[in-house]
Amino acid sequence: MTIFYLCYFFILGLILGSFFNVVGMRVPRRQLFAENRSYCPHCRRSLQWFELIPVLSYLLQKGHCRHCRGRISPLYPVTELGTGLLFAVCFWHFGFQPELLVALLLISMLAIILVSDLRYMEIPDRVLLLFLPLFLAGRIISPLDPWWTPIIGGIAGVLQLAAIIIASRGGMGAGDMKLFGVLGIVLGWKKVLLAFFISTVYGAVITLFLLASKRIERKKPVPFGPFIVLGSLTVYFFGDKLFNWYLTSFF
Ligand SMILES: [Zn+2]
Repeated sequence: MTIFYLCYFFILGLILGSFFNVVGMRVPRRQLFAENRSYCPHCRRSLQWFELIPVLSYLLQKGHCRHCRGRISPLYPVTELGTGLLFAVCFWHFGFQPELLVALLLISMLAIILVSDLRYMEIPDRVLLLFLPLFLAGRIISPLDPWWTPIIGGIAGVLQLAAIIIASRGGMGAGDMKLFGVLGIVLGWKKVLLAFFISTVYGAVITLFLLASKRIERKKPVPFGPFIVLGSLTVYFFGDKLFNWYLTSFF
């Protein structure tokens, strides 16, 4: 039966991941409901149902539009597959506990933010405002210990980024700060501080690698959102293990 549910959450994640792609692409341009059908960004032709199957359509069409042969961004299948796999991991990790709901919401928000930030260098306020009350409700049905740690977490997340923004004179944006406020509610204060630290480590390592392999240019700004996504997921799933490892190794 577990296999059945794992498949169920995987497929649910694939389908929702496809939807998150659309939300992440359209919300910053305020056109979420302007066009009902998905279309090719190159030739603007509406896509048929068989061109919208998550991951599979991309693979069958070898990453190109069937009509104009324009290149389709690998971001689409990566978001779909990532959401599918992570949804399955969430079920594997939590089963049908209330925390499963918080976990699925977290993956959903991060998927949308990943798309928006990579595409437009923007973390949309409207996405954060949608998820904020959902996470607050989630922390009532699946509380952290002690119960107030999400509140302190939200404040800590915002203050930490505010300090960095002032110190670095705009190295990070207000969008990053608001995102950490929301993440603080999900993670609690200790883990949100750790999530920021790990995000910067990912950011430094991956940016250096991309610069060294000449995949990005030195002058071009790099969106920080993808590193926040990686950092907060790492801490959400492995935060307790990381704290234990740190405490037993150094004290
Ligand atoms: Zn096309």
